[in-house]
Amino acid sequence: MKTNLKNLTREELAALLAAVGKERYRADQIIRWLYRHRVDSVAAMSNLSRVCREQLQQLACLPALARVAVERAADGTEKFLYRLADGSCIESVLIPEKERLTLCVSTQVGCRQGCRFCVTGRQGFRRNLETAEIVDQVVQSQKYLDPQGKVIRNLVFMGMGEPLDNLAAVVKAVEILRYDDGLQFSSRRITLSTCGLVPEMALLGEQAEVSLAVSLNATTDRQRSELMPVNRRYPLEQLLAACRRYPLKRRSRITFEYILLHGVNDSIADARRLVRLLAPLRAKINLIPFNEHPQLPFRRPPAAAVTAFQEILLAKGLTVIVRKSKGADIQAACGQLRGRVQPAAGGETGSSVSPGTDA
Ligand code: SF4
Repeated sequence: MKTNLKNLTREELAALLAAVGKERYRADQIIRWLYRHRVDSVAAMSNLSRVCREQLQQLACLPALARVAVERAADGTEKFLYRLADGSCIESVLIPEKERLTLCVSTQVGCRQGCRFCVTGRQGFRRNLETAEIVDQVVQSQKYLDPQGKVIRNLVFMGMGEPLDNLAAVVKAVEILRYDDGLQFSSRRITLSTCGLVPEMALLGEQAEVSLAVSLNATTDRQRSELMPVNRRYPLEQLLAACRRYPLKRRSRITFEYILLHGVNDSIADARRLVRLLAPLRAKINLIPFNEHPQLPFRRPPAAAVTAFQEILLAKGLTVIVRKSKGADIQAACGQLRGRVQPAAGGETGSSVSPGTDA
């Protein structure tokens, strides 16, 4: 079977080429074609000799993700539905923030963590994405922006799936996305969000340099285990100990995400417990008022409850922001576009959403 070029790090590409007698600098040339020029075929790599291109085509292939739907929200958020070679579909979401564009990428088809407030969690798990499928979400989304002269500035691994449940592919993708002669994402512009897989958090700290976000959402084990089954394996004490051990650079902090669910975790007592849990850590807190969804049994808190919650954290000196809901009118939370695309007979290959459809 041919190797997908976007599955290979620079070293792996050099080894593939060395096996057919090609020089190492050819790997650098190919990296530039893949990630700087973003070509879709080996034939387009015009500074490789014809013989070299033919040899490469015998060894390797360069399939691209198919963008089968785009939805735009009134606030400029755009959601892409990408179809994979096996017919499965994944989402990437492009979020405009001030002058910057952030792309939220998926790491799995579905997810096995089953968080109760998450549409993807309800859809179950199908498979891990390959490195190439993670990297190509960025490449294809940037290609979509190229004619507009726009550049993706930040990446967040917060789409469908738990990134640390697919650690090897994610670590390799991060390495590729950081190449200076490629897409050039620095480590501080890549954030990985986890529901709290404690052993993998330690491995991530050893194997990749990224900013870490932890999806916390509760302040007691009973409450968190109800919302997030992962808490039964790795309760709060273990999770926070793993956060304390995580290798942070000077002046960086772990982001804790806290989805506010009305009547569930948005009380004054919850806010006070959150202060006690996070005050000893180098932490910043993102409060996210829940985006209501017909498939989910939770409600968004009233604005006054959100403000009261935030003020308790601020009064204790914590850094906290309330994240505005982006793309609420296109349901830009993970898994929601895919959930609305109708599977065609024989697999998830059909779409009831047209490319470029406005919300
Ligand atoms: S919130 Fe994240 S970890 Fe939890 S089910 Fe959804 S995709 Fe999986």
